[in-house]
Amino acid sequence: MKIDLLPSANSRWNPDADGRFGEFGGQFVPETLMAAVLQLQDVYAKVRVDHAFWENLHARLVTYVGRPSPLYHAERLSERLGGAAIYLKREDLNHTGAHKINNTMGQVLLAKQMAKQRIIAETGAGQHGVATATAAACFGLECVVYMGAEDIRRQRLNVFRMELLGARVVSVDSGQKTLKDAINAAMRDWMGTSEHTHYVIGSVMGPHPYPQMVRDFQAIIGRETRAQILDATGKLPDRVVACVGGGSNAAGMFTGFLDDDEVTLIGVEAAGEDMKPNRHAATISAGAPGILHGMRTLVLQDEHGQTLPVHSVSAGLDYPGVGPEHAFWKQCGRVQYTAIDDQAALDAFTILCETEGIIPALESAHAVAEVLRIAPTMKKDQTIVLNLSGRGDKDVVEVGRLLGKSWQ
Ligand SMILES: *Cc1c(COP(=O)(O)O)cnc(C)c1O
Repeated sequence: MKIDLLPSANSRWNPDADGRFGEFGGQFVPETLMAAVLQLQDVYAKVRVDHAFWENLHARLVTYVGRPSPLYHAERLSERLGGAAIYLKREDLNHTGAHKINNTMGQVLLAKQMAKQRIIAETGAGQHGVATATAAACFGLECVVYMGAEDIRRQRLNVFRMELLGARVVSVDSGQKTLKDAINAAMRDWMGTSEHTHYVIGSVMGPHPYPQMVRDFQAIIGRETRAQILDATGKLPDRVVACVGGGSNAAGMFTGFLDDDEVTLIGVEAAGEDMKPNRHAATISAGAPGILHGMRTLVLQDEHGQTLPVHSVSAGLDYPGVGPEHAFWKQCGRVQYTAIDDQAALDAFTILCETEGIIPALESAHAVAEVLRIAPTMKKDQTIVLNLSGRGDKDVVEVGRLLGKSWQ
């Protein structure tokens, strides 16, 4: 399969010249960061139309990441639910086990093109940190990852993985000592170092051009899927489902289908324990417009505009903001958003393991849960594509604890 990665120059879904998607997006950064952001915007505008860059990247994604990832007809799951035919886009089969590597390979290649010698990144649970450390090692660049002290304590194994891959992990002791604080620390580093350092953001968030750029790097998911489903069924899918943390795997998948009005796109957020403040991460369902991490978007906040703590059983969905284009897609009605709670995600995790022999990431299990809900309401000649954003090996210890099972 030959996939052209060159992003569309004149799509109506691109942001405007100021990086706005409707009222969302933009560049809300301190003066000291503006020079770095503008330099990146400039370089990326040129790279975006540079065929050689995208061909170069695609070659790496084939030989190193293992693309294209398969589109798998989950016949046993489809039969069990008795409705639509379900297809799984197997991003879990990528090198490092999730979609995040599509973005980090793109950004590190871009850093090389800009002659930067140093890579920095933030990480929450450690997945983006590992994917960044991997790409930095692959291209031979120095790598520093900022991680909240609380996350370091909870995710020791990923800290060790990053160190094995040659990265230095810096503990962040401010605020709640989690993802939000790690992003602030990485931005502070970048203010003083942007001349030789590129900051790899892990989702479709942050100031322009990051949301657009990360979506462009993840668009390979949607482009491959569109070709694969047409090949497999001879028609477009009826519905496409993906989980939404910051929103990058969903944005990459949806980009393949945005102009196909007949395809219903569904983003699934984390409803956590329940929908009371501090107990979920369903930003689109319960957030209000605000400014966070350099962008205007929907944010979970209290009545004074203070960002609220969030909770989800899956660490990768645990973010109080969301990529600005999701806020826009929600507002203009192109994408529907729902929320799945911890228990339903856990049930879906088990069902996919037993029915298909695939252990999904807990993040992806939220999308699986939505499919369990909607597939039985659909006809047998209809199809659903589910983006299986990552594998669940990283989650089996936590799932064992939640299910009250011990394997030792
Ligand atoms: C990080 C992660 C997510 C959430 O991030 P998005 O930017 O919303 O895609 C989802 N699934 C997996 C497997 C992840 O590692």
